[in-house]
Amino acid sequence: MKPRNAFSGIEMEGEHSRPGSRRMRRLDEPASVWREKELVDGKGVEAGVVILQTRGCSHYHNGGCSMCGYNFGSGGEVSAENLLKQFRKAADILGEIGFLKVYTSGSFLDECEVPRQVATAILETCRDRGLRLLFESRPEYVSHSKLDEILSIHSNLEVALGLESANDRILQCSINKGFTVHDYDNASSLLRQKKVDIRTYVLLKPPFLTEAEAVRDAVATIRHASEVSATISLNPVNVQNGTLVERLWKNWSYRPPWLWSVLEVLRTTKGLDAKVVCDPTGGGKERGAHNCGRCDDVILDSIRNFSLSQDHSKLGSPECTCRDLWSAVMDLEGFVAGGTVDLQRFFRRQRA
Ligand SMILES: [Zn+2]
Repeated sequence: MKPRNAFSGIEMEGEHSRPGSRRMRRLDEPASVWREKELVDGKGVEAGVVILQTRGCSHYHNGGCSMCGYNFGSGGEVSAENLLKQFRKAADILGEIGFLKVYTSGSFLDECEVPRQVATAILETCRDRGLRLLFESRPEYVSHSKLDEILSIHSNLEVALGLESANDRILQCSINKGFTVHDYDNASSLLRQKKVDIRTYVLLKPPFLTEAEAVRDAVATIRHASEVSATISLNPVNVQNGTLVERLWKNWSYRPPWLWSVLEVLRTTKGLDAKVVCDPTGGGKERGAHNCGRCDDVILDSIRNFSLSQDHSKLGSPECTCRDLWSAVMDLEGFVAGGTVDLQRFFRRQRA
């Protein structure tokens, strides 16, 4: 799952709607377009992000992932012509950039989702404009022949793989990811053979894990991914509409990760070869990674500064009493059947 922040430009209709209640009708409009800073070869460059409205992720038809709500915004029959128009509009909006990230609801390499002529047109545009291109794919679509075909058009690529966890039990039982760590390893070794840079998405706090288990799992996953990845993006779960995670959250059975946990993961994984970046979607909010509300902004700023500099001394550690509560949760939650109830959220609601 890729991070999605700062929606700007064209708003995604239905982004906050319940599944099926509103469908996007403007099939020629990209779901979202924005610019952001990205560290490439040690330098900050202007990156453009495009989210194309496709027919959706193939895995969504198998139930989808427990935390992913992106497909509830995907529109039914999107033609190749629609996708090309979306891409051209996005390219016009973005203007001069050095790096382009193209996301769909699922996999750029899945021809059912992104038809071949659309992928070719996007690759040719990047080649002609000298742009580094990042796209995401599930590992099952990464094959020798597919990569050869793509690399014959454009070779300045970064391919993102959403590993989420390097633990098969968590992939299966907490996320319903639909592939195994072995599948990720196969795809990543193929990409390395072809000298394509890999960006791996790591999830922090899939459902059914305690806070401490989630931190340990993210650290282990980052270590696993760092052996093959140029970049690792740590993505703390945010509660998206229509997902299993949302149902658990509404039943007081899930709390998004603490920002203290994000800091802990980033500090513990210091010294790896891969670059580690993090920009928590919905950070500081009830549905995103958050602390008590008083220390959130300082920590979020420090995480963003760290991501752009890779300087661990930039990771903030403000004095805040909520750190003691987080420490207690880390130590004790495993002994409490069913986990701890998020009382802070309850009392905040009562005051509101
Ligand atoms: Zn605090």
